[in-house]
Amino acid sequence: MREVSDNIAAIRVQIEKACVPHGRDAAAVNIMAVSKMQPGERVRAALDAGHRLFGENRVQEAHDRWAPLKKEYPDVRLHLIGPLQTNKVRDAVALFDCVQTVDREKVADALAAEMKRQGRGIPCFIEVNTGAEPQKAGVLPENLPALLDHCRAAGLDIRGLMCIPPADDPPAPHFALLKKLAARHGLPEISMGMSGDFVKAVALGATCVRIGTALFGTRI
Ligand SMILES: *Cc1c(COP(=O)(O)O)cnc(C)c1O
Repeated sequence: MREVSDNIAAIRVQIEKACVPHGRDAAAVNIMAVSKMQPGERVRAALDAGHRLFGENRVQEAHDRWAPLKKEYPDVRLHLIGPLQTNKVRDAVALFDCVQTVDREKVADALAAEMKRQGRGIPCFIEVNTGAEPQKAGVLPENLPALLDHCRAAGLDIRGLMCIPPADDPPAPHFALLKKLAARHGLPEISMGMSGDFVKAVALGATCVRIGTALFGTRI
Protein backbone atom coordinates (compact mmCIF):
# COMPACT_ATOMS: atom_id res chain seq x y z
CA MET A 1 0.00 0.00 0.00
CA ARG A 2 1.21 3.48 -0.81
CA GLU A 3 1.95 5.97 1.90
CA VAL A 4 -0.93 8.08 3.12
CA SER A 5 1.04 11.23 2.28
CA ASP A 6 1.49 10.01 -1.35
CA ASN A 7 -2.23 9.30 -1.58
CA ILE A 8 -3.09 12.81 -0.40
CA ALA A 9 -0.69 14.31 -2.95
CA ALA A 10 -2.14 12.13 -5.75
CA ILE A 11 -5.71 13.13 -4.81
CA ARG A 12 -4.68 16.79 -4.81
CA VAL A 13 -3.25 16.40 -8.35
CA GLN A 14 -6.48 14.76 -9.57
CA ILE A 15 -8.49 17.62 -8.07
CA GLU A 16 -6.27 20.19 -9.77
CA LYS A 17 -6.73 18.43 -13.13
CA ALA A 18 -10.50 18.22 -12.66
CA CYS A 19 -10.67 21.95 -11.94
CA VAL A 20 -8.91 23.11 -15.12
CA PRO A 21 -11.64 22.51 -17.75
CA HIS A 22 -14.23 24.13 -15.47
CA GLY A 23 -12.16 27.19 -14.63
CA ARG A 24 -12.37 26.29 -10.97
CA ASP A 25 -9.78 27.23 -8.33
CA ALA A 26 -8.42 23.98 -6.86
CA ALA A 27 -7.77 25.81 -3.58
CA ALA A 28 -11.56 26.03 -3.17
CA VAL A 29 -11.81 22.24 -2.93
CA ASN A 30 -11.13 20.82 0.52
CA ILE A 31 -10.04 17.23 0.96
CA MET A 32 -11.75 15.68 3.96
CA ALA A 33 -9.94 12.56 5.17
CA VAL A 34 -12.65 10.14 6.34
CA SER A 35 -10.96 8.31 9.20
CA LYS A 36 -13.81 6.01 10.33
CA MET A 37 -12.61 2.44 10.96
CA GLN A 38 -9.03 3.29 9.97
CA PRO A 39 -6.05 2.16 12.06
CA GLY A 40 -4.53 4.85 14.26
CA GLU A 41 -1.17 4.78 12.51
CA ARG A 42 -2.74 5.79 9.19
CA VAL A 43 -4.47 8.73 10.85
CA ARG A 44 -1.13 9.67 12.43
CA ALA A 45 0.48 9.53 9.00
CA ALA A 46 -2.09 12.01 7.64
CA LEU A 47 -1.51 14.32 10.61
CA ASP A 48 2.27 14.05 10.14
CA ALA A 49 1.78 15.00 6.49
CA GLY A 50 0.09 18.20 7.70
CA HIS A 51 -3.48 17.16 6.90
CA ARG A 52 -6.03 18.77 9.22
CA LEU A 53 -9.57 18.20 7.89
CA PHE A 54 -11.15 14.91 8.95
CA GLY A 55 -14.59 13.32 8.86
CA GLU A 56 -16.17 10.65 11.05
CA ASN A 57 -19.61 9.11 10.83
CA ARG A 58 -20.21 7.92 14.41
CA VAL A 59 -20.15 10.23 17.41
CA GLN A 60 -18.86 7.66 19.92
CA GLU A 61 -16.09 6.28 17.69
CA ALA A 62 -15.06 9.81 16.77
CA HIS A 63 -14.95 10.83 20.42
CA ASP A 64 -12.70 7.93 21.41
CA ARG A 65 -10.22 8.72 18.66
CA TRP A 66 -10.33 12.48 18.39
CA ALA A 67 -10.85 13.79 21.93
CA PRO A 68 -7.18 13.01 22.75
CA LEU A 69 -5.85 13.76 19.23
CA LYS A 70 -7.50 17.19 19.14
CA LYS A 71 -5.61 18.15 22.30
CA GLU A 72 -2.39 17.29 20.49
CA TYR A 73 -3.46 18.93 17.22
CA PRO A 74 -5.71 21.87 18.17
CA ASP A 75 -5.97 23.02 14.54
CA VAL A 76 -7.67 19.79 13.41
CA ARG A 77 -11.14 20.37 11.95
CA LEU A 78 -13.50 17.46 12.47
CA HIS A 79 -16.83 17.12 10.65
CA LEU A 80 -19.67 14.74 11.47
CA ILE A 81 -20.78 13.05 8.24
CA GLY A 82 -23.00 10.29 9.67
CA PRO A 83 -26.54 10.41 11.06
CA LEU A 84 -27.04 12.30 14.33
CA GLN A 85 -29.52 11.13 17.00
CA THR A 86 -30.80 13.74 19.42
CA ASN A 87 -29.32 11.85 22.40
CA LYS A 88 -25.83 12.32 20.88
CA VAL A 89 -26.18 16.05 20.20
CA ARG A 90 -24.39 17.10 23.39
CA ASP A 91 -21.26 15.05 22.61
CA ALA A 92 -21.41 16.07 18.95
CA VAL A 93 -21.43 19.80 19.69
CA ALA A 94 -18.56 19.39 22.16
CA LEU A 95 -16.37 17.45 19.71
CA PHE A 96 -17.15 18.39 16.11
CA ASP A 97 -16.35 21.60 14.26
CA CYS A 98 -19.18 21.11 11.78
CA VAL A 99 -22.22 18.84 11.47
CA GLN A 100 -22.86 18.00 7.81
CA THR A 101 -25.92 15.82 8.39
CA VAL A 102 -28.74 18.03 9.65
CA ASP A 103 -31.85 16.55 8.02
CA ARG A 104 -34.84 17.24 10.26
CA GLU A 105 -36.27 19.96 12.48
CA LYS A 106 -35.91 17.97 15.70
CA VAL A 107 -32.14 17.61 15.25
CA ALA A 108 -31.81 21.25 14.15
CA ASP A 109 -33.62 22.42 17.31
CA ALA A 110 -31.54 20.15 19.54
CA LEU A 111 -28.32 21.41 17.94
CA ALA A 112 -29.32 25.06 18.30
CA ALA A 113 -30.25 24.59 21.98
CA GLU A 114 -27.08 22.68 22.75
CA MET A 115 -24.84 25.23 21.03
CA LYS A 116 -26.42 27.92 23.17
CA ARG A 117 -25.97 25.84 26.31
CA GLN A 118 -22.28 25.13 25.61
CA GLY A 119 -21.60 28.61 24.23
CA ARG A 120 -20.09 26.90 21.19
CA GLY A 121 -21.55 27.75 17.79
CA ILE A 122 -20.50 25.44 14.98
CA PRO A 123 -21.51 25.67 11.32
CA CYS A 124 -23.79 23.02 9.84
CA PHE A 125 -24.68 21.56 6.45
CA ILE A 126 -28.03 20.09 5.49
CA GLU A 127 -27.94 16.56 4.08
CA VAL A 128 -30.15 16.13 1.03
CA ASN A 129 -31.54 12.74 -0.02
CA THR A 130 -31.08 13.49 -3.72
CA GLY A 131 -32.16 9.99 -4.75
CA ALA A 132 -35.30 10.09 -2.54
CA GLU A 133 -34.30 6.68 -1.16
CA PRO A 134 -36.77 5.68 1.57
CA GLN A 135 -34.18 4.08 3.88
CA LYS A 136 -31.66 6.88 3.56
CA ALA A 137 -30.93 9.90 5.73
CA GLY A 138 -31.30 13.40 4.33
CA VAL A 139 -34.16 15.78 3.64
CA LEU A 140 -36.06 15.31 0.38
CA PRO A 141 -35.21 18.05 -2.15
CA GLU A 142 -38.78 19.40 -2.08
CA ASN A 143 -38.64 19.76 1.72
CA LEU A 144 -35.29 21.57 1.74
CA PRO A 145 -36.65 25.15 1.64
CA ALA A 146 -38.84 24.61 4.72
CA LEU A 147 -36.04 22.91 6.67
CA LEU A 148 -33.61 25.66 5.72
CA ASP A 149 -36.04 28.33 6.93
CA HIS A 150 -36.53 26.42 10.17
CA CYS A 151 -32.78 26.05 10.76
CA ARG A 152 -32.11 29.72 10.09
CA ALA A 153 -34.95 30.80 12.38
CA ALA A 154 -33.50 28.53 15.09
CA GLY A 155 -30.19 30.40 14.71
CA LEU A 156 -28.15 27.67 13.03
CA ASP A 157 -25.36 28.79 10.72
CA ILE A 158 -26.11 26.70 7.61
CA ARG A 159 -23.09 26.84 5.32
CA GLY A 160 -23.87 24.26 2.71
CA LEU A 161 -25.40 21.03 1.49
CA MET A 162 -24.20 17.44 1.54
CA CYS A 163 -25.32 14.33 -0.33
CA ILE A 164 -24.53 10.64 -0.71
CA PRO A 165 -25.91 9.50 -4.08
CA PRO A 166 -27.60 6.09 -4.36
CA ALA A 167 -24.96 3.36 -4.66
CA ASP A 168 -26.27 2.00 -7.95
CA ASP A 169 -26.98 5.28 -9.76
CA PRO A 170 -24.52 7.30 -11.83
CA PRO A 171 -23.60 10.08 -9.38
CA ALA A 172 -23.43 13.02 -11.81
CA PRO A 173 -27.16 13.93 -11.83
CA HIS A 174 -27.18 13.90 -8.02
CA PHE A 175 -24.11 16.14 -7.87
CA ALA A 176 -25.67 18.51 -10.39
CA LEU A 177 -28.90 18.66 -8.38
CA LEU A 178 -27.04 19.39 -5.14
CA LYS A 179 -25.11 22.20 -6.79
CA LYS A 180 -28.32 23.69 -8.19
CA LEU A 181 -30.01 23.57 -4.78
CA ALA A 182 -27.00 25.19 -3.09
CA ALA A 183 -26.93 28.00 -5.66
CA ARG A 184 -30.69 28.56 -5.37
CA HIS A 185 -30.43 29.00 -1.59
CA GLY A 186 -27.20 31.01 -1.53
CA LEU A 187 -25.18 28.30 0.20
CA PRO A 188 -21.43 28.42 -0.55
CA GLU A 189 -20.37 24.92 0.56
CA ILE A 190 -21.10 21.71 -1.35
CA SER A 191 -20.00 18.41 0.22
CA MET A 192 -20.10 15.61 -2.36
CA GLY A 193 -17.82 12.99 -3.86
CA MET A 194 -16.09 10.03 -2.22
CA SER A 195 -13.17 7.76 -3.24
CA GLY A 196 -14.87 6.44 -6.36
CA ASP A 197 -16.39 9.62 -7.74
CA PHE A 198 -14.65 12.69 -6.33
CA VAL A 199 -13.22 13.75 -9.70
CA LYS A 200 -16.75 13.98 -11.12
CA ALA A 201 -17.91 15.81 -7.97
CA VAL A 202 -15.17 18.41 -8.35
CA ALA A 203 -16.11 18.94 -12.00
CA LEU A 204 -19.68 19.56 -10.84
CA GLY A 205 -18.82 22.05 -8.11
CA ALA A 206 -17.83 20.23 -4.88
CA THR A 207 -16.09 22.38 -2.27
CA CYS A 208 -15.53 19.40 0.05
CA VAL A 209 -14.76 15.86 -1.09
CA ARG A 210 -15.01 13.15 1.57
CA ILE A 211 -12.34 10.53 0.94
CA GLY A 212 -11.71 7.40 2.99
CA THR A 213 -10.28 4.36 1.22
CA ALA A 214 -8.45 6.20 -1.59
CA LEU A 215 -6.60 8.21 1.05
CA PHE A 216 -6.07 5.71 3.88
CA GLY A 217 -6.52 2.30 2.24
CA THR A 218 -9.20 -0.32 2.94
CA ARG A 219 -11.05 0.06 6.24
CA ILE A 220 -10.46 -2.63 8.89
C1 LIG B 1 -17.35 6.42 4.62
C2 LIG B 1 -17.87 7.66 4.05
C3 LIG B 1 -17.14 8.35 3.05
C4 LIG B 1 -15.84 7.84 2.46
O1 LIG B 1 -16.05 6.74 1.65
P1 LIG B 1 -14.85 6.15 0.73
O2 LIG B 1 -15.56 5.43 -0.35
O3 LIG B 1 -14.05 5.25 1.60
O4 LIG B 1 -14.07 7.29 0.24
C5 LIG B 1 -17.67 9.54 2.58
N1 LIG B 1 -18.83 10.05 3.05
C6 LIG B 1 -19.54 9.42 4.00
C7 LIG B 1 -20.80 10.04 4.48
C8 LIG B 1 -19.10 8.20 4.53
O5 LIG B 1 -19.83 7.61 5.48
